[in-house]
Amino acid sequence: MAKCSDPVIGKILAGWRYDISGLAPEMRGDYEAHLAECQFCRSRQKLNRGIDIGLWVMASGSMFVFFLAYGVIRYFQPHHAFWLEVGALGGFLLSMLLWLLVAVSTPAPLVVKDAAMLGARVGLEKLPEEIRDRIPEDLRLKISGQS
Ligand SMILES: [Zn+2]
Repeated sequence: MAKCSDPVIGKILAGWRYDISGLAPEMRGDYEAHLAECQFCRSRQKLNRGIDIGLWVMASGSMFVFFLAYGVIRYFQPHHAFWLEVGALGGFLLSMLLWLLVAVSTPAPLVVKDAAMLGARVGLEKLPEEIRDRIPEDLRLKISGQS
C-alpha cells in the first residue's frame, strides 16, 4: 500500500493533485484505470479531495462568522464600531477571496456537485411513485444522469 504501482503515472497524477475531473473523457481512461488499481494513488486522491473540501468548508464558515460579526457590531453599536465593522468586512472579503480561490483551483465544487447528485438520485428512487410522477421529466432525467 505504501508504494505507487506505476511511478510515471503516479507522478503526473500528483502534479495535478490527483484531479482528473477536468480531463477530456478519452484522456481520462488511463488515469482512471490506474486509480482503480493503485491503492496508493487512490488514497492520495481521497486525501487531496478531503483537504480541498475541508478548505472550502472552512472558508464558507469563516465568511459566515465574519458576516455574523458585522451584523452583531451593527446591532449593538459598541465603541469604535466603525473600525470593528471595517475589520469584520475585511475578514469577510478575505474569506470570500479564499472561497473563490478554492472553488476555481480545486475540483471541490465538482466533488460536492457529484455527491449532491448522488444524494438526489437516491432520494428520487425512494420517493413514492405518485410524487415522482409530478417532478418534471427533464429534471428527473437530469438527476438520474440519463441526459
Ligand atoms: Zn499510483
